[in-house]
Amino acid sequence: MSETRAVTDRLGRGLRNLRISVTDRCNLRCNYCMPEEEYAWLPREHILDFEEIDQLVDVFIGLGVDKVRLTGGEPLLRKDLPRLVAMLAARRRLTDLALTTNGILLAEQAPALRAAGLGRVTVSLDTLRPERFRALTRRDTHARVLEGIASVHGANWQGLKIDTVVIRGVNDDELVDLIEYGRRVNGEVRFIEYMDVGGATAWSMDQVVSRGEMLRALGCRYGAVEPIREEGSAPAERFCLPDGTTFGIIASTTQPFCRSCDRSRLTADGMWYLCLYAKTGLDLRQALRRGASPGALGDLIEGAWGRRADRGAETRLTTAERRPLVQIGELRRDPHLEMHTRGG
Ligand code: SAM
Repeated sequence: MSETRAVTDRLGRGLRNLRISVTDRCNLRCNYCMPEEEYAWLPREHILDFEEIDQLVDVFIGLGVDKVRLTGGEPLLRKDLPRLVAMLAARRRLTDLALTTNGILLAEQAPALRAAGLGRVTVSLDTLRPERFRALTRRDTHARVLEGIASVHGANWQGLKIDTVVIRGVNDDELVDLIEYGRRVNGEVRFIEYMDVGGATAWSMDQVVSRGEMLRALGCRYGAVEPIREEGSAPAERFCLPDGTTFGIIASTTQPFCRSCDRSRLTADGMWYLCLYAKTGLDLRQALRRGASPGALGDLIEGAWGRRADRGAETRLTTAERRPLVQIGELRRDPHLEMHTRGG
């Protein structure tokens, strides 16, 4: 597509930010995301190849997308990921090409990813304590995550972020330690409120540590915490400590940012979701594999985005007795409802 025809939804929100899940597989089993013993995986033949992903990205760019984040599942489990990165990095109208990873395979892949043109890396790290990591993820790979982060720092690769889901009674005593760690590795820490998304089948409101609580805890330790005023649609609100250290909080559970949300998600099998909380999506794989032209795909996407009025997280706020969004039976019937399939 040569021209950009920037589309907006019914609330005037542009289509700018595309998160692409490149696999539904993961090498961790975090209690808040993949707590089950068994999962229904997407059929292998449904998984989009890199050329298909690139074709779709081209169409999305034509409709206004200028930021792409590769995610999963664990994106570094996808074979040959640097090849996809190189294809996307060649698309000049993408101003931001980022990756969210659990970091386990990062040390070995970072040089190739960077050489391929990946702009930024976000590593999910919920704890600095190996025994806690083991209990939380049911895997023993904490040291490898830290090596992955060190490899980004060691290469002086700017833009590193460290994402931490804060859960009461699990890791809410590590906020300060994580800020200090972030300083050491030159990564900006972003604390994420525990969300009641698909897959979080053990979620409960009393485990959510709110933005306000986090700010109070950090204020007690560091003194005045100042908000950083900035425009944009980034989910994290950023703050500054007296010594200039910055950090973010993503308060999707208690202070959702639906009004400015320009994010949508493409699953590894080509389903497109317009809201993290949406129960239905648009099947772009079928359209693509039936030979739809870029123009026809663009019309399909534009039409769906034009009808969009989702305010998923805000709607959840109005739910009287808030429980996990999706129950286990429904998740088994449709794995697209899982966070690890939809792409976090
Ligand atoms: N495997 C990669 C990773 O670990 O970063 C990418 C996929 S993971 C689903 C993306 C992000 O979603 C992670 O930072 C993870 O902590 C977050 N996440 C998963 N379930 C969540 C929940 N219930 N509440 C808040 N964040 C969640």
